[in-house]
Amino acid sequence: MVNCNYIHLDEYQFFRIVVSEKKHKSRIILQPICQRIEQAYLTYLNDFDSLCGQPESHFATDDQNIRTALQKCYSSSTNSFTQFRANYYNHQPPAVRDLCPYCMIDTPYTLDHYVGQTEFPEYSILTKNLLPCCFKCNQQKNETWRSNNVKTFLNFYDDRFLQYPFLIADMQFIRNIAILSFTLIQPAEINNLQFALINRHFSALGLLEKYNKKSNNRLSSEIKTIQYMMGDGWIDADIRAQLLARYNGFSIQYGPNYWECHIYKALADHLTEIRLL
Ligand SMILES: [Zn+2]
Repeated sequence: MVNCNYIHLDEYQFFRIVVSEKKHKSRIILQPICQRIEQAYLTYLNDFDSLCGQPESHFATDDQNIRTALQKCYSSSTNSFTQFRANYYNHQPPAVRDLCPYCMIDTPYTLDHYVGQTEFPEYSILTKNLLPCCFKCNQQKNETWRSNNVKTFLNFYDDRFLQYPFLIADMQFIRNIAILSFTLIQPAEINNLQFALINRHFSALGLLEKYNKKSNNRLSSEIKTIQYMMGDGWIDADIRAQLLARYNGFSIQYGPNYWECHIYKALADHLTEIRLL
C-alpha cells in the first residue's frame, strides 16, 4: 500500500471556477451558496474529525435542487474539472497509476468520493475528497466512509504510516500443500487508533480473505517454477536470492504491505520444505 499525492490547489477557488463554467440554470443555483461551500470546505480540510461526527450535510435534504446541482458539478463535465481528471494520474506515483490503493489488486479506473456524495454533495468536486479506486472497491465502499463517528477506510492522502510493515504472511504445509495466510500486526511506529483504522479498512473490504485466495491460487505455479530450478541444479542460496530480489522489487514499488511481495518472502523462507515436496 502506498500514499497518493494530493494536488495542492486552491479548492474553493477551483469550485468557483467550475461554477462559472456551468450553464446558466446551474449557475443561478450554485452562485448564492458559494460562501456556504467555503465553510463546508474549511470543515473538511481543517477539521476532518468533526466532519466524521457531523450528523448530516450542510445542505439539508429539502434543498434537493441545490444537492442535485452540487452532484452535477462532478457528473456533468466542465473544462476545469475535465482537465483535473485528465491530469490526475500524472501527479501520482507509479504504484497508484497501476493499482487501486484501497485493495492493491485491481486497476483504479474510477475516482472514489471518500466522503460519499449522496450524503455530502457539497464535496462532490473537492479534490481532497477524490481518490483513485477500482470498480469493486468503489462499489463495496459505497457511502460507508464512517462508522460510530470514525473513518472506516484509510485515507491515502492523510494516513501517512503506510511505510511501516503491518501485513505479514505465514506459510504452512498441510498434507504437502503450501498454504499462505495473511494477518495484521501492529508495528511500534503505528499507534492504537491508526491500527484500529487499518483493521476496519481490511475488514470492510475483506482484504485478508482476498489476499489469501489470490496468493494460494498463485502458490502452486510458483512452487513448480522453484522445483524446476531445483531439478536443474540450482542451489537454495541462489534461488533464495532470486526470490528476495522479487520481494524487494515489489516492496520498493508498492510498499512493504503489498500482498504479492509476501508470496516471494514466504517462498524464500521455506525452500527446505519445498525441496521435500
Ligand atoms: Zn480496489
